[in-house]
Amino acid sequence: MYDLIILGAGASGLFLNKLLSGKNVLILEHNEKAGKKIEVSGGGKCNITNKILSYKNYYPSNPLLKSYFKKFDNKSLLKWIEKNGLKVRELKPHQYFFSSSKEILRLLGAKNIIFGAEVFEVVKREDFIVKTSKGEFRAKNVVVALGGKSFKKLGGSDRGLEIAKGFGIGYREFKPALVGLSVQRSEEWFKRLSGVSVRARVRVDRREWVDNILFSHRGITGPAILNASLFWERGFIEIGFLDNVKKYLKNPNKQIISQLPLPRRFIKEFLSVVGVEDKKVKFLSKEDFKKLRLLESYKFAPAGTFGFERAEVSKGGVLLDELSEFCESSVRGLYFIGEVVDVTGELGGYNFQWAFTSAFCAYEGLRSLI
Ligand SMILES: Cc1cc2nc3c(=O)[nH]c(=O)nc-3n(C[C@H](O)[C@H](O)[C@H](O)COP(=O)(O)OP(=O)(O)OC[C@H]3O[C@@H](n4cnc5c(N)ncnc54)[C@H](O)[C@@H]3O)c2cc1C
Repeated sequence: MYDLIILGAGASGLFLNKLLSGKNVLILEHNEKAGKKIEVSGGGKCNITNKILSYKNYYPSNPLLKSYFKKFDNKSLLKWIEKNGLKVRELKPHQYFFSSSKEILRLLGAKNIIFGAEVFEVVKREDFIVKTSKGEFRAKNVVVALGGKSFKKLGGSDRGLEIAKGFGIGYREFKPALVGLSVQRSEEWFKRLSGVSVRARVRVDRREWVDNILFSHRGITGPAILNASLFWERGFIEIGFLDNVKKYLKNPNKQIISQLPLPRRFIKEFLSVVGVEDKKVKFLSKEDFKKLRLLESYKFAPAGTFGFERAEVSKGGVLLDELSEFCESSVRGLYFIGEVVDVTGELGGYNFQWAFTSAFCAYEGLRSLI
């Protein structure tokens, strides 16, 4: 009998385990090693957190988030990292990375893990019984840290939501997020531009990102699109390739292509799609200008996403208002932390930050009990 069983040896489960070092805790993990997503994250350097953290921005807004970050925010995480002798560097603006993900994996390393144990089900009698491919395990408390459904090859599953469902705990189905978007027939031309990258303004609802977008053989991706995918459900996305077309077409005796600050391949394809010939600016008609202004605001409805296997995270999960400030559910002793909870952040370290924040909140709830 354990005081606590943590389901999943990923970012949130490993951190909680570390905080509870010395306690009667077991971790169950179906992979053959811990933290597979941590290992590959941030190009092998793990973008652990961000200099700027706000529960209103960078996460789909939910006022309930405030109380969790109040307990453990980016500064708390950076302090913990430093206290444990590791260093992070701001390799991209505001984004903190390790020299190698292995550093944080080593720090979070644990001996109390049973690998190759796929969790099937959790039931509650007097205590909890966790049914797995390696038999049944009993505990007074269970923390579900099973992550999301994306990247099955790294361990992703939706078992966490099945467990929630079994206990009648409310959740939103997982959907792929931080993922590329596939296109409808009207945007087939994006595919012909596969490999071309441009800096653009991407807008969904009232959110906006100015960053790179990348055309691909499946549609469109790149950081601005990945962030937009977090907020896009259905309907339109708007891309501004240029802020003001006229501003660039100053010389009446020069061709359009030579004046617009966009990759040649992109402009050629765009002109052919909208039906404007590359000509000297003085020969452009009013109608031509109208078409060119689509570069300032190109609206299209994506067909869907590239799917869970390409999605950095899964949005959806156990609803935050089903959990206490310690991430405990209405079932006493049953907690949910990390990506299995309906909190998903933008690119830039916000998802690890949530994994660590929620683990800390569960630790606060559990430390006096076990
Ligand atoms: C390629 C990639 C790169 C990323 N880069 C970044 C980044 O740089 N910065 C950032 O903030 N976020 C990044 N993320 C997202 C980040 O990895 C996750 O948000 C984070 O790992 C979530 O932590 P977690 O503990 O909730 O889940 P996970 O870390 O996914 O851990 C869940 C664990 O549960 C195990 N598990 C699942 N189902 C079962 C089962 N049925 N039985 C037993 N075990 C099971 C899994 O194998 C896994 O070990 C990246 C994700 C991917 C896929």
